[in-house]
Amino acid sequence: MAESQPKILLIEDEVQIRRFVELELKCEGYDVQSAENGMEGLSFAREQVFDLIILDRMLPGMDGLEICRRLRKDSQIPIIMLTARAEVKERVEGLDSGANDYLTKPFHLEELLARIRLQLRLSQNKPGEELRFETLRMSLLSREVFVADQSLHLSPREFELLQYFLQNPRKALSRSQILSAVWGWGNGVQDSVLDVYIHALREKIEQNGQPRLIQTVRSIGYMLKESP
Ligand code: CA
Repeated sequence: MAESQPKILLIEDEVQIRRFVELELKCEGYDVQSAENGMEGLSFAREQVFDLIILDRMLPGMDGLEICRRLRKDSQIPIIMLTARAEVKERVEGLDSGANDYLTKPFHLEELLARIRLQLRLSQNKPGEELRFETLRMSLLSREVFVADQSLHLSPREFELLQYFLQNPRKALSRSQILSAVWGWGNGVQDSVLDVYIHALREKIEQNGQPRLIQTVRSIGYMLKESP
C-alpha cells in the first residue's frame, strides 16, 4: 500500500528562509504547509494533522518556546526548533520547552533534511499514542482513560491534568509548573483550584479501592508515584 508523503508544518516569519525551506522540502517530496507567525502556526497545528513541525524560535506575537509548550500539552509531534541564537542556555530552553531537536541558523539544508528524516523515523517507532502508569492507561487518540481496565469519565481539564502527570511520572511537580502547563501562562487561576481538581481526580482514580497514585509533595506540589 502506498503511503502518503509526510506532512510538515513550517512556522517561520523570515520570508526568504520560509520560501527557501518550503521549496526544498517540496522538492524532497514532503507535503508542506507554512505559517508566517506564531498564532497562525498554532492554529494550523491544532486544525490539521502533521507529522512534524519546524518551528522558528523568534516569531512576532507568540514566540517558538511558547508555541512549543502549548503544543506539548496534548501532542507528541516531533518539533525541530530553528534559532539564530547559539548559546547553550537558548538550546536548553528550546529542548526544555519540548522541542525534539534544535538547529542554529544559518544551517545547511542537508543537515535539516537529515534531522527531519531522523525525527520521522523515531516517531514512527513509537508505540502509539498511549500513556501508562501502574493501573492507569490513557489513549491520546481516543481520549479514553482506564484504571485497572475500568473506564473513567474525566472532564477535559481533568484529562489534561492527568496527561501531564502521566507524561512526567515520578517527578515532583510544583504547583506553578502544573498550573502553567495545564491552565497556561498568566492563567489567573487561583492556587486552590488545583487542589479541587486533584481531589476530584483522586476520587475517580481511587474508586473501587485502587491505590493512590497522585501523591502530595509537601510544600512543593504533587507527583505521580506508586503508594509507598
Ligand atoms: Ca524569526
